[in-house]
Amino acid sequence: MSFKELGLSPEILKAVEECGYSEPTPIQAQAIPVILMGRDVVGLAQTGTGKTAGFTLPMIEILAGGRAKARMPRSLILTPTRELAAQIAENFDMYGKHHKLTKALLVGGVSMEEQVKKLDRGVDVLIATPGRMLDLFERGKILMTDIKILVIDEADRMLDMGFIPDIKKIVSLLSPLRQTLLFSATMSPEIRKLTERFLSNPKEITVARQGTASAGVEQFLVEASPRAKQGVLGQIIEAEDVQNAFIFCNRKRDIDGLTRFLQGKGYAARPLHGDMPQSARSETLERFKAGEATLLVCSDVAARGLDVQGLSHVFNYDVPFNAEDYVHRVGRTGRAGMKGRAWTLATPAEQKYVEAIERLTGKAIERKTGAFSGMKAGASSSSQKEEKPSNIVKYNKKSDNKDTGEKTSKRTKQADRDSRDGPALKGFGDEMPEFFRK
Ligand code: AMP
Repeated sequence: MSFKELGLSPEILKAVEECGYSEPTPIQAQAIPVILMGRDVVGLAQTGTGKTAGFTLPMIEILAGGRAKARMPRSLILTPTRELAAQIAENFDMYGKHHKLTKALLVGGVSMEEQVKKLDRGVDVLIATPGRMLDLFERGKILMTDIKILVIDEADRMLDMGFIPDIKKIVSLLSPLRQTLLFSATMSPEIRKLTERFLSNPKEITVARQGTASAGVEQFLVEASPRAKQGVLGQIIEAEDVQNAFIFCNRKRDIDGLTRFLQGKGYAARPLHGDMPQSARSETLERFKAGEATLLVCSDVAARGLDVQGLSHVFNYDVPFNAEDYVHRVGRTGRAGMKGRAWTLATPAEQKYVEAIERLTGKAIERKTGAFSGMKAGASSSSQKEEKPSNIVKYNKKSDNKDTGEKTSKRTKQADRDSRDGPALKGFGDEMPEFFRK
């Protein structure tokens, strides 16, 4: 199947070709012709499947034939997070580069003034998080009556985040004569109810779960007590050929501490969580994309929708409470046919979440236990890879520590103690997990 067969115009085909895509992904192949026909669509697809282009490409096609009026956007895309909204906006820029469509991003955490100015000039595509969207509507800055296409992206995440009442309100303000596209990673009874309420005779398209789609991701599980987790993670990162990685924590309060721990070990680690101002989040992401930061310690919400090409690893510092989140997290690596590795650290108390994940994916995660110091040989799939030194960017520890004399001397004492245990155990001290001592 080629993009040419989907009914897209030469301008869009050109943009797609410039992105280097040779053929549509399954969700694109199935959704694009149906959306172009004007039908409602429920897309059961996760991030990483190419779903964003699956709806942006036909939207550009449909919207190309009209003009935006002041304060009356012609289409609306609702997303759960600012990052996902920014990602979709980037997609519009990429795929719509040979069109003259206008767009506005309505997300919290940035100045409303600029957003209002754009709306006043008229936009074809409005990409919004539900809270900010309603806020501007209530201030009389948006008229919803001209919205002909509504996209609800990551509906299951919206549900988790408590956005459904806002979405219901927004949908009630729209014309019933609209086309609605709803995307969700899963189809729970709640999502089913929403589709029945918001969509009319939709075509349901399901693409393979990330767990089966991302066959390129090798997945491992290591048991560690809560106290040992930092040390175990450090050890794995040291042993693996990590180019860049997301490290997921369940709790925001762990993110900063873990980031400091990794920075202390010389890694270019940065935190990313929902409490950071938008400007800091954007800067972190830019640095990560530029390779200046190689480890992003993040929460699920902050990382949702982030599209970083060529991520070599994902680490689950905690087992996610929700099995679906595991699939999302792991799906951040091994994208677009590339190889990736995902490591999960689990305490005995987290075993029940591991079982839920395995029930969902229908696959056991490979355990790495016992003589963990032999992990490198056991974990790597090719002996050539084992020989490679870690490529990860490290800060220059010396210059980094020049103002922290006390810390450095503590660390030196620790290093002296550690050197007695052999180099592989350096830095863990009392935190050293049991199986490292074997
Ligand atoms: P998404 O699932 O929308 O987050 O997209 C995942 C990634 O796949 C993004 O980096 C896209 O740029 C990329 N992508 C989308 N469509 C294609 C395609 N047809 N061929 C190759 N990569 C694609």
